[in-house]
Amino acid sequence: MTDTVDSAAERTDFIRNIVREDLASGKHSAIKTRFPPEPNGYLHLGHVRAIATDFGIAREFGGVCNLRFDDTNPAKEDPEYVQAIQDDVRWLGFDWHDLRHASDYFGVYYLAAEKLIRDGKAFVCDLSADEVRATRGNLKEPGTPSPYRERSVEENLDLFRRMRAGEFPDGARTLRAKIDMASPNINMRDPAIYRIKHVEHQNTGNAWPIYPMYDYAHALGDAIEGITHSLCTLEFEDHRPLYDWCVDNVCLHENPELLAPLLEKGLPNEAAKPRQIEFSRLNLDYTVMSKRKLMALVQEGLVDGWDDPRMPTLQGIRRRGYSPEALKLFISRLGLSKQNSLIDYTVLENTLREDLDSRAERRMAVIAPLKLVLTNLPEGHREVLRFANHPKDESRGAREIGFSRELWIEREDFAEVPPKGWKRLVPGGEVRLRGAGIVQCDEVIKNEAGEIIELRGTLDLQSRPGMEGANRKVKGTIHWVDAATAVPAEFRLYDRLFTVPNPDDESEGKTYRDYLNPESRQVVQGYVEAAAAVATPEDKFQFERIGYFVADRHDHQPDKPVFNRAVTLRDTWAQKA
Ligand code: ATP
Ligand code: MG
Repeated sequence: MTDTVDSAAERTDFIRNIVREDLASGKHSAIKTRFPPEPNGYLHLGHVRAIATDFGIAREFGGVCNLRFDDTNPAKEDPEYVQAIQDDVRWLGFDWHDLRHASDYFGVYYLAAEKLIRDGKAFVCDLSADEVRATRGNLKEPGTPSPYRERSVEENLDLFRRMRAGEFPDGARTLRAKIDMASPNINMRDPAIYRIKHVEHQNTGNAWPIYPMYDYAHALGDAIEGITHSLCTLEFEDHRPLYDWCVDNVCLHENPELLAPLLEKGLPNEAAKPRQIEFSRLNLDYTVMSKRKLMALVQEGLVDGWDDPRMPTLQGIRRRGYSPEALKLFISRLGLSKQNSLIDYTVLENTLREDLDSRAERRMAVIAPLKLVLTNLPEGHREVLRFANHPKDESRGAREIGFSRELWIEREDFAEVPPKGWKRLVPGGEVRLRGAGIVQCDEVIKNEAGEIIELRGTLDLQSRPGMEGANRKVKGTIHWVDAATAVPAEFRLYDRLFTVPNPDDESEGKTYRDYLNPESRQVVQGYVEAAAAVATPEDKFQFERIGYFVADRHDHQPDKPVFNRAVTLRDTWAQKA
């Protein structure tokens, strides 16, 4: 593999260029970023771009990156996700400087809101959510100022404190920033910065009946932590003026008294002015990536959980056989830009093939077994053959494979009536058994139903490795496993979860549920050579001629092997499309 993921020197996307300039000009002596997931679901492939950007850029430029849980929306958040997100970030090979929660800052957010009120920059509004919506205006028309906009500072402070004391029911009032109801940017039309919500929070319990809104909390969270470059996706571009408004009007770094609640928690004062920079989201075809849809797939039982190997969640993709290196290589190859685009799923799969081609040792497995008896070997005949673990890397060494009178081969490698161009076994024909010699098929044994249950053949002893006829030409080579020493195994043959490039397409009343691929999971029973059975969970192999597989993280055991197909050896979707 030629790309090295962590080499900053040559990488020149627009964000790295900004960071480089800021360090060169002395604007910052060190950089600090953050990754701010909302703990309301599992991380997915899209998040890998954000993680690789936030953590990756910090690492490349000698800075640090915080992990901050954006837990301002208590009703939807769950500690299960908080743990899973940490595991996923670590699995990708990153570690955070500080682990924080937006809820660590509730005290600061509150004092900052009182400051805005005192400065005449925020007011308590009694309009309902519907009334606010109705008076916001639209792209052509300005909004109508709230009748509560000119409340006195005293009245606003009193009402806000009573909101905080829990005196009012949910939705009765909001605290709104007083900005500009005629702004061409609708986000700037007196947006709400606090709402009343009597909901228990997983970190703060029932301490707060009011919760800050995302834009306000996010901007101040960055400022509190001294984030220099706040990197996020393009949908926040229109929110940047509000982000800057919050940062500049609260101005935490010049008002240290607002940070008192932090110091009480033993957190340091690192406040500084952050800069938000947006990049495009990662969109992939043949998949859905919104947390809401992924949640529905799990809850409706359409997949086998968050870590189903067909899911684009990190838990799923890991169980599918992707390594962190493959994912980071994929992300680094796509680069960073401000252009939204839809990435071809094949690009992801090809990166996996490339990664596994170099990473995965070779083994033999038979996923649809048919017995082949070599009648010219004596009963009880046993041999041990040596096979290289990797065709392009001798340092990987070799392994031993048993060989005896009875073998398993793939049903698909035999045809009674061969189609044109067939190179594998036929009645009376010859084929090379990979690494063992040439066999001729003498007899086809069937059961009463006429199904083929066994083949009998003769091994050409002169064609065995090291013999003078070893190089004799035959048309085809097939793989096999030794019936005496192979281990029965389960193979889970996974494929794309959706049959269409855009499962988000809801035209004609359809939903992504209508595009599920019924063949995305097939379970078959076969055999693996002993050296594959002993794998530890998550070991990856190329089963020769079959595909790349990974020993299942949860279910694989050496005496009951379970392998998941990560990807086929070649793209089978190009011709389907
Ligand atoms: P979803 O829309 O799937 O619910 P989200 O954006 O709400 O995702 P968050 O937990 O808020 O998810 O995201 C944390 C960070 O990851 C944010 O900075 C967000 O911009 C980024 N992110 C989320 N999805 C993608 C994506 N597809 N590509 C790049 N970055 C993403
Ligand atoms: Mg979100």
